[in-house]
Amino acid sequence: MENAPMGREPELLRVSQTHFPVETLGPGRRLGIWLQGCGLACAGCMSRHTWDPQGGTSRTVASLLELWRAALAQGADGLTVSGGEPLDQPAGLAALLAGAAAARAEAVAMAAAPGGAASGREVDFLLYTGYEEEEVERDAARSAAVHHADVVVTGRFRVAEPTELVWRGSANQRMLPRTALGRARYQAHLARTASGSRLQVVEGEGDVRLYGVPRRGELAALERRLRRAGIRLTGPSWRP
Ligand code: SF4
Repeated sequence: MENAPMGREPELLRVSQTHFPVETLGPGRRLGIWLQGCGLACAGCMSRHTWDPQGGTSRTVASLLELWRAALAQGADGLTVSGGEPLDQPAGLAALLAGAAAARAEAVAMAAAPGGAASGREVDFLLYTGYEEEEVERDAARSAAVHHADVVVTGRFRVAEPTELVWRGSANQRMLPRTALGRARYQAHLARTASGSRLQVVEGEGDVRLYGVPRRGELAALERRLRRAGIRLTGPSWRP
């Protein structure tokens, strides 16, 4: 753990995992940070491994911001924070997004300086929450935590309401741009649908990770394909 300024405890977050580049949760190549802990318990959740608030690992916000700066240096198009339920850790999340916004501003300033790359590339912050918009707005800590998010996807996952809308798991979930950048970048995606696979498959250490929001039936189809190839899943994160 890195040192904190004298007299201040480092801001901590319980984290399930991180990955760069994620290509299925928002536009372009993104840093994905999945926070640990969710008490909403949606039926059919594909990420039950993120429910236990004591699971995952404890990380400082500073260490996550190092990942974000490294992703920016590698050309990241944005940061996606999901879970678990990110807004169950509102103070840490607020610190993370504020720090990410400061790093974004630094990168823009450096690019615009004499001799800088001056690419004009913008990066956005996309936040997933299972809370409804009203549940976020009427809670001061949650409301403060979303301050720096350019776009928020809100609402419980409802297994009985499938959708083809990109980056949403069920038809009730709403994609809400909150900033000028969010509106400019996501406007074309608000009603966009996709019929192909919406999952990115990544080999982890002793496991396989799926990033994205699967279409209805996509996980079952994946299991069938693997079974035909002689591979049986043990402990998939969408089963109790
Ligand atoms: S779908 Fe999201 S909000 Fe619902 S239980 Fe799973 S992690 Fe929590």
